[in-house]
Amino acid sequence: MMVVRAEGSGGPCGACRFLRRKCVEGCIFAPYFVSDHLGTSHLAAVHKVFGASNASKILFNIPPHKRPDAVVSLCYEALSRVSDPVYGCVSHIFNLQQQVDNLQAELAYTFKLAKLAHSQQEQTSFELDIRDPQEDKDDDLQRLARELVAKYFPGLQFSFSD
Ligand SMILES: [Zn+2]
Repeated sequence: MMVVRAEGSGGPCGACRFLRRKCVEGCIFAPYFVSDHLGTSHLAAVHKVFGASNASKILFNIPPHKRPDAVVSLCYEALSRVSDPVYGCVSHIFNLQQQVDNLQAELAYTFKLAKLAHSQQEQTSFELDIRDPQEDKDDDLQRLARELVAKYFPGLQFSFSD
């Protein structure tokens, strides 16, 4: 995800450009932050919220194949915090939690109606095929995260390298 490679330019990556430092070979940020306005603005947000040094430590301590997702979540959190200093991405979480609560209430109500209808029509049998919501939780979370990033930060580019 968000593997925005600074290829062909030969110059510093967006992170090093923002930090006004030399972009050395093996720069931890180079694979993810292009050397354009987008790359520098994303790094600016990450630097403002986490500090570039902390962000690089986080990335160094993560297996390389997981770094693209970590960069996406760092950018998502940082950009959220910059645009909403009070709640950051937690406002999205609260909104989603509210949706979950509403949907669970709706589901419980629907189950009640279905039970009622079932008890009123003893001769008619039917089955409700409900999937276990926990079953696909991880996949759902990843899909949700990607949808949210695409929705709120359309500037981020993705390439799924895993
Ligand atoms: Zn660099």
